[in-house]
Amino acid sequence: DADLAERLRSAIRTIPDYPKPGIMFRDITTLLSNGPAFRDAVNAMADRFRGERIDCVAGIEARGFVLGAAVAHAMGVGFVPIRKSGKLPHKTISREYALEYGTDRLEVHIDALPDGARVLVIDDLIATGGTALAGVELVEELGGDVVAAAFVIDLPDLGGAARLAERGVHVEILLS
Ligand code: 5GP
Repeated sequence: DADLAERLRSAIRTIPDYPKPGIMFRDITTLLSNGPAFRDAVNAMADRFRGERIDCVAGIEARGFVLGAAVAHAMGVGFVPIRKSGKLPHKTISREYALEYGTDRLEVHIDALPDGARVLVIDDLIATGGTALAGVELVEELGGDVVAAAFVIDLPDLGGAARLAERGVHVEILLS
């Protein structure tokens, strides 16, 4: 609701020119350190999926771990980490995705999901959607069924949510 979005918005700060000139970085550390705001964000995400079967939450490193683990806990389901390359100890599959300059890579353990698992993918923010799309594709490659991708913040001008929707992914956003 509008009230929740306003409370969350006021708990997030914008840092100009980070990580480089011209970028307005949405800093969610102030939301995470605010107990009521953090709880409201987590409960709101979990509430969006009440009554739906979700088998696990897959969170994208690193802020998607903090939110995703809390949402998984609230839902009473397991958590699967989708990590930057080279961090997971067991055999992995990986996806490269485009950054503004260059590329990066996300990985997940090959045995991270039970067959046919219904998965909720979580990150803090969606901008161009490249990161989330890589996460979604990893879950699908493991045989998972992506129920939705959920974010606290959407930067709609960058088109990521639309890109995921075009790809048939249901998107949930707490504020944009
Ligand atoms: P995308 O791949 O959609 O362009 O970028 C989203 C990814 O970059 C997410 O993993 C997100 O955490 C990070 N990101 C990009 N811009 C911001 C920002 O302004 N604030 C935060 N907190 N994360 C950002």
